[in-house]
Amino acid sequence: MSLFPHVRFLLSVADVAQFPPVDGREVAFAGRSNSGKSSAINAITARNALARVSRTPGRTKLLNFFELAPGQRLIDLPGYGYAEAHAEERRQWTQLIEALPGRESLTGLFLIVDIRRGIGEQDVQLMEWAAAAGWQVHVLLAKSDKLNQRDRATAFRIAQEKCGDGITVQVFSAHDRTGIQPAQKRLIQMLSGSSS
Ligand code: GDP
Repeated sequence: MSLFPHVRFLLSVADVAQFPPVDGREVAFAGRSNSGKSSAINAITARNALARVSRTPGRTKLLNFFELAPGQRLIDLPGYGYAEAHAEERRQWTQLIEALPGRESLTGLFLIVDIRRGIGEQDVQLMEWAAAAGWQVHVLLAKSDKLNQRDRATAFRIAQEKCGDGITVQVFSAHDRTGIQPAQKRLIQMLSGSSS
């Protein structure tokens, strides 16, 4: 049976004023456009089409709230790092994201990184900002099926070194289903308020 049998889409938000009321616990999912974030959300929640798997990177400009269980929500943040995003789009992204640390219900961040690219500058910025907000951070090195075992192990080691203490890292593939259970377990820990 699915770990999240009652998962449902709640709402899309383009403006801070539209955020749902603060209660319970929330975990945000973030990552560069095309990092595999939507596929990871779908695989972890065992819903094929909960988050839209994009053909055009950078198209999702809204924050999407999903309810995993009563009082437990997942926030799908818009992808970043899209080269063609124009200034207005970036301003909107920043405004939405900057409102998040003040949100008491938000306690964790899942950061999705394409394992072939590794953790980039914007990912580091987001992690530092999450740490400052006091959130737990978990990194998914996504699309691990794209690398052989040796390169995967190297990428994992480099990512762990970059993250330092307190941030958990794992390899993940929505396609061959590597690491789905550990990711679900970590998400449930974050949503239930226990530490790693
Ligand atoms: P998002 O833009 O970060 O939400 O990424 P998507 O989930 O939309 O995926 C971007 C592209 O990467 C799509 O073409 C997906 O099919 C592909 N992709 C996503 N996850 C995996 C994976 O685990 N393995 C492989 N090989 N490709 C993936």
